[in-house]
Amino acid sequence: MQLPDVEHMSSTEKNWFASSIAGMIVADGHADQTELEFLKEAINFLDNKEEITQIMAIIKNGNLPELSPLEIDPKQAFLMLKYLSQLMVADSDLSSKEIEFFLSTGRFLGFSNEILAKFWKSSRSLLERDLPQGMIETGKLKVKVILTNVDESGFTFRLSKPLMPKVKIMLRVSKFHQSQKPPEGDEEYWQVIACKMFKQHQLKYDDGCYMVRATFEQKIATAHGVLQILHPESYAVVSKGGYIETKKNSLHGSNLHCYACDNPKVPFYVLQSKSMITKPNIFGIPSYVSSAGELDFCNYILINVASCSKCGFSSIHKDDFKRLETDNPYFDIEKFSEEWSEKIAPLLKKAQDSGEKFFGEERDSEQGILSYDLAAATFDHMANIEKDVQKKGEALRKKASMLMAQSELLMENKDRDAAEANLNKVVEDLEPIFERLDGPVMLHVCVLLFQIKIYLNDLQSAAQYMKFMDNYDTEGKLQEGTEEYKELKVNSAKLKATFDDREILTKENLKHFHIDDDE
Ligand SMILES: [Zn+2]
Repeated sequence: MQLPDVEHMSSTEKNWFASSIAGMIVADGHADQTELEFLKEAINFLDNKEEITQIMAIIKNGNLPELSPLEIDPKQAFLMLKYLSQLMVADSDLSSKEIEFFLSTGRFLGFSNEILAKFWKSSRSLLERDLPQGMIETGKLKVKVILTNVDESGFTFRLSKPLMPKVKIMLRVSKFHQSQKPPEGDEEYWQVIACKMFKQHQLKYDDGCYMVRATFEQKIATAHGVLQILHPESYAVVSKGGYIETKKNSLHGSNLHCYACDNPKVPFYVLQSKSMITKPNIFGIPSYVSSAGELDFCNYILINVASCSKCGFSSIHKDDFKRLETDNPYFDIEKFSEEWSEKIAPLLKKAQDSGEKFFGEERDSEQGILSYDLAAATFDHMANIEKDVQKKGEALRKKASMLMAQSELLMENKDRDAAEANLNKVVEDLEPIFERLDGPVMLHVCVLLFQIKIYLNDLQSAAQYMKFMDNYDTEGKLQEGTEEYKELKVNSAKLKATFDDREILTKENLKHFHIDDDE
């Protein structure tokens, strides 16, 4: 985001601008992570420590700054206002308190109410560009609206007039966002769903406008497009490859594009969220027990890995494939392609020999195990070509998680030696790089290594990891609510639980990687 020309601002002007930024950050009653990025920028252009302390006090106490009218070059004023209007929606939310603060700041800069209203409304439309939208029909009214607060029970939308209580509303959810143009020939809307007006209130700074809450009056199904809003992770968005008709109704399939060899048809399956009952093994790898409801059972661990049938590139992460025309790989394709085909040839041949089933939704356990060999090889190769320590570590961690999933399958397939060999490989890969990983990742890996060490009866090195976790934040420096803080709490608890059960969770004691009820 472009800052105004702070170089040419006076000290007073800079301080005023920084105060207004801090004020906008706290205006909605809480400081959001994305908003704090703006604060860093503000602090950078301030001249002295005292001023920075004042600004930080605004954030800390959550009190709005006391601003007064500022005489400043109109062009600068315009850029400041533009900056604030963007900051106003940085947390993906626009509250009336934020609008109120924006209006008062804008007036101090000499802008009229009309201009200010234009400003915040255009920020709002920017914010709403990627929100779901739909066509509502009620009585004689038929209008396109933005859908907010969509949940299982209903949705909220803004309307330029009030509605009758309990009036019937027909909603058709759009298949596209405002920022997307529907491809020609595609229908723009999902099937109509019957709803009812539930409540409404008048908007404070938006004359004559109302926020209306409506509830769904029929059971929501896939054809309504609402589930796609609620569980986007279950519905892969693909521009070119398109959806795959799946046999099991618990799966969504789509064709993704292979970065490595340009194959446009790599089938990728996603399980509908919460559709299966799972039981984690002692390392946290889920095994799929049964269907949670009426949807078809799917032993998803077998088909989680998507494999390219042409070059063998394999991964469980959507981001490792190209989905939209604008997507770019995060790894160096040219480097990856060097030596890749020789390296993967034996495994790829096995996969191709095992036939169509391997690249579909019905792998058997042998094929499932093979798919993790391919994925582990993919990430191993990525780690090898990567110079950056963090990225190398990330690739090795992904490889480790493939080996862990595979070890669960191997163990259930009665191949205990191979399963345990995987545990040793994970230790070999992760132990040397462990302390160089990013905070939250490091904590996660720490627990995994601890669990493996306990399982293998290596108590001495297990104790090292326990000590590491204990000493992670002895001075309580981590800020509450940060990712790292949460990860520390969760992972310390996991480690403690493993420690408490250390006598049960060993190789000698367990028949497989699960604690059975009779054990
Ligand atoms: Zn490929």
